[in-house]
Amino acid sequence: MPIYEKLMGNPFVDAGVSVICEWLEKLPQPEEITIEDLRQVVQEVVPLYCEYEYRAQIRFIFPNSTLTQHSKIQKGIQSLTEELKSEWLQQLDKITDLDDAGDCMGCGRRSVDFRLKKTEVPLTGSGSLRNFFPLFAEGSGYCAACALAIQFAPLGFVRSGGKFLALHSNSWKAINYWTRTCIADIRSRGSRNEFTGFFDPKESKAQNALFYMVRKMVEYEADRSTENITMQVYSFSNDNRKAELDMYHLPARVFNFLRFVQRAQYAKNWYLIVRSGYRRQTRKGFQDIDLKNKNPAEVYQKSTNLVYNNLLEDKSILGFFFDRTARKTRSNWELLSLYLKEVRKMELTQLEKIKQVGDLIAKSIQESESDKRLKQLEMAKSYGECRNILRYVIRDRIQQGAPEPLFSIDDYMEHLFPASDNLDLTPWRETRDLLLFRIYEKLHKWLKEKGHVDFDDNTSETDDNNEEEN
Ligand SMILES: [Zn+2]
Repeated sequence: MPIYEKLMGNPFVDAGVSVICEWLEKLPQPEEITIEDLRQVVQEVVPLYCEYEYRAQIRFIFPNSTLTQHSKIQKGIQSLTEELKSEWLQQLDKITDLDDAGDCMGCGRRSVDFRLKKTEVPLTGSGSLRNFFPLFAEGSGYCAACALAIQFAPLGFVRSGGKFLALHSNSWKAINYWTRTCIADIRSRGSRNEFTGFFDPKESKAQNALFYMVRKMVEYEADRSTENITMQVYSFSNDNRKAELDMYHLPARVFNFLRFVQRAQYAKNWYLIVRSGYRRQTRKGFQDIDLKNKNPAEVYQKSTNLVYNNLLEDKSILGFFFDRTARKTRSNWELLSLYLKEVRKMELTQLEKIKQVGDLIAKSIQESESDKRLKQLEMAKSYGECRNILRYVIRDRIQQGAPEPLFSIDDYMEHLFPASDNLDLTPWRETRDLLLFRIYEKLHKWLKEKGHVDFDDNTSETDDNNEEEN
């Protein structure tokens, strides 16, 4: 039996095992890790942890640990390094192979060797408050192998906004790619003698840091994977004064969609969409950002992004695919329908029907030589109003001598405005926005030439090449 396995189920243990695998040059699988490997990792990681910045940060992960004790630091870094090394190397003697069952909270496959508290395991109570623990014990029970793995986990944490992000996933590969991103950066800084602490992508919002990591993970995948990856990201601080925890869930359908948007043909437009989501959070709510005389990258790193937040909260991001003020889209129909299919699970036939109706309305508007109907559609505030405007368009088209109807009754009931038990929930707004998107995509140039666009700052320029394909 091996010492470790993939995905043993405890986020901190899995993170630690992933660090061991990524730290060793031979990149072993968890099942291949040996005691000698662990000895090597201890020998290499302890001196790193003893560097000033790492010690300063570890206080928020393992408070009161040997690394943070003033009396021990005072004796000098050499002595601190030796003491921690011997502390961890002693644990090696206790490590046994996985068994069939056991009461360890990390693996459930070995018996407990230690009762650990918040000094050794983040977000575990302090031992004195026994009601935090099962059976009023002082601390939680872990085996020596899991306890040691957890000590390495911080090398796979991401710093963001004064907290640390830890990933847990159904995919071992995903955990590895996340860890690899962190360790590659730590090593690269180390080679320049920059011991500035654990990985920090300089994103102060946890949600933005999470999406930064997904970008990196998809790069590592290099288009090869079709695995369904879900991610749970824990944003925590284990500070002595205040322990905090936020959780974010990224479903597989969103991860799959993010794989697509990074491809060359979508990346530029996806960036425009993401950029349109940045807001400043104030006491009055979210406000638009004024970038005048500022470095956009620096401003974005401190801002909330509603595109990211909505994706994590399972809310629609349709509104970010176009700019109403400029009557312009930020992507082509292809990227939008990819989002609707992958993330919103919309049927292809429904999408095609809405696209077709959008095309016909666009044609009718253009023939009318006026943006009156477009304005009405933009201003519609209820399902009733929206329906009336479509009725006007049907009338316009009859006057224009259009050969076919705008849509059949079946299309209307099944695809445009499918019935809902609750009238308030009829997703008319989504259909209206999709129609607007398609009309803007078709007519933006024409609307601009005719003076029907009041404001267009060119920041949401779409890729002209993409328009041809539709
Ligand atoms: Zn264990």
